[in-house]
Amino acid sequence: MKLNKSSISSLFFLFLFFAFGCETASHHSSESISLETLEKAHDQFLEGAITHRRFKHEELQPLIQKHADAFEIEVLGSSVEGRSISSLDWGQGEMKVMLWSQMHGNESTATMALFDLFNFLKASGDEFEEIRQTLKENLRIKFIPMINPDGAEAFKRRNALDIDLNRDAISQISPEAVVLKGARDSFEPEFGFNLHDQQIYYNVENTPKQATISVLAPGYNYERDINEVRGRAMKTIVGMNEILQQLIPGQVGKYDDGFEPRAFGDNIQKWGTSTILIESGGYHGDPEKQYIRKLNFMIILNALHQIAKKGYEAYTIDQYFEIPDNGFQLMDLILQEVQVPVEGSYYPVDIAIRRRESNAGPTYSVTGNVEDLGDMQVYFGLEELDATGLKYQEGKVFEQVFDTVEDISEGKAMELLKSGYLAVKIKDGQPGDLHQLPIVVLQSTDQFSFGWKTGSNPTFFLRDGENLRYAVVNGYLIDLENPKEQLIKQRVY
Ligand SMILES: [Zn+2]
Repeated sequence: MKLNKSSISSLFFLFLFFAFGCETASHHSSESISLETLEKAHDQFLEGAITHRRFKHEELQPLIQKHADAFEIEVLGSSVEGRSISSLDWGQGEMKVMLWSQMHGNESTATMALFDLFNFLKASGDEFEEIRQTLKENLRIKFIPMINPDGAEAFKRRNALDIDLNRDAISQISPEAVVLKGARDSFEPEFGFNLHDQQIYYNVENTPKQATISVLAPGYNYERDINEVRGRAMKTIVGMNEILQQLIPGQVGKYDDGFEPRAFGDNIQKWGTSTILIESGGYHGDPEKQYIRKLNFMIILNALHQIAKKGYEAYTIDQYFEIPDNGFQLMDLILQEVQVPVEGSYYPVDIAIRRRESNAGPTYSVTGNVEDLGDMQVYFGLEELDATGLKYQEGKVFEQVFDTVEDISEGKAMELLKSGYLAVKIKDGQPGDLHQLPIVVLQSTDQFSFGWKTGSNPTFFLRDGENLRYAVVNGYLIDLENPKEQLIKQRVY
């Protein structure tokens, strides 16, 4: 390589860039709060009025009002069905941060964490006072919990116009989208937190680990460029990941940064706010997402502290890209090598099952579904069974009719399963009534459709020779010899 004057000067500038860049990265402390302090703060300030993820707008209103002394509360507008959307402002600092949650009505985990955070911020004179003062002096925070109260009411993703608010950032058809855009435009935050939930089937790509939290610094153009605004979001995410890896190692995934020109996160990034997406996924044994709520509280509080003290500058964009990608490879149950009968012969197939939630008043029931079958090695089961050598066997409907679902004990249901019955009939009660029995309950019909093929409801036996070894009931696996404790959420058909 021949060096001329201009390439020498380029090298010199390159040298300066690296020298300066390296110094920036090593010079700062990350200003992270200790794990112990974060956990303690959550335990102490948990909002006890919210105990599950299907709370409604109405339940939040007194919880917002109780903070009127410590926060500046403003009604920003209303939803299609006339429910108020409020903001809570706190802090006297220069750096503006806006957090909004639940633009998808059934994604409520972060909303719970925000109410815990309000309790934390409102308190005073305790061991957390230094953290609180740091936030108060450096930040001005605007919280907008539950952007989509109509969706929350029906516990569904979309608003009452059946529009996905996250595709309405530009068109502004929905009043809720107008509220969010209006808040961003008048407040002009430097940082934004876009708070969502994702399906429990997200994993860390090509691992069996559930993505309990997924993150993204959304792209602001198709080229996926990184400017200073987006870079700051990336660095802040590295700080969140640092906390999470200590609590849920290997369970943080990074979303694809493909640009979606209609989405809020992408556009708010584009409009100059360093935007951080947090997606709450699933965690073993936490169906109501109360542990994930705590994780949200911890990473948000820590991120606010790092923003207040510019601790995020200690991290690099490379560290952001080291966070592994999200996958969508989880199933509730995978049965490996089940022998299924076709035309008089048996074939070994892996059966991949998900149990989809359906709303039922304040709670839900599930419907099992065979998602796919064959070679399922690219999927991971939250529960797996090696069914090698076991044969598929249909079940029968029990002839005797019970009066009500309450007349069937769990013991009776197990006894019927062991005798080859997978369904029972009842006289009284309604289709849709909930129960927790490990058997199918029929009221309006004498039969139900089931099977092992894709799209079927997986309700069948697995037999070892003539011996019924397992029952699969609406996608739940029941070991007939050693039944384990499990939460079963069924409905009457
Ligand atoms: Zn969402």
